[in-house]
Amino acid sequence: MNHTTRTLNRSKQRDAIFNYIITHKTHPTADDIYNDIRKDFPNISLGTVYRNLTLLTELGSIKKLSYGDAAEHFDGDITPHNHFICNTCGSITDLQMENIDFVDEAASRNFDGKIAGHNIYFYGTCPSCLQNIHPEH
Ligand code: ZN
Ligand code: MN
Repeated sequence: MNHTTRTLNRSKQRDAIFNYIITHKTHPTADDIYNDIRKDFPNISLGTVYRNLTLLTELGSIKKLSYGDAAEHFDGDITPHNHFICNTCGSITDLQMENIDFVDEAASRNFDGKIAGHNIYFYGTCPSCLQNIHPEH
């Protein structure tokens, strides 16, 4: 394999990883992405997936979510938005809600330092788990 081919394959793999993340709103983990993407790229390694996720995160093309469970999840939507995590199934959902940047001001009120932002997640039971608990609804 010459250098050109290898470079092309690398960027193709990165494109495939990026496309996967922006088309899957499920906030997948590296394992999720690897298990799906290797159907199209049988030679891809988990290490390559991790490397590209780190690079894409550093470039600001995707966002890394590190809350809820121990695994890191990735988000193709880099605009500010809040997440809901289901305590039952672990799914992560985007919340459609009004801006809550006033929490920075609330946090600053009795704090002498400078608040630069916040990282909030909401948790509870997702609609489909709720449906399983109360199937009559
Ligand atoms: Zn759930
Ligand atoms: Mn999201």
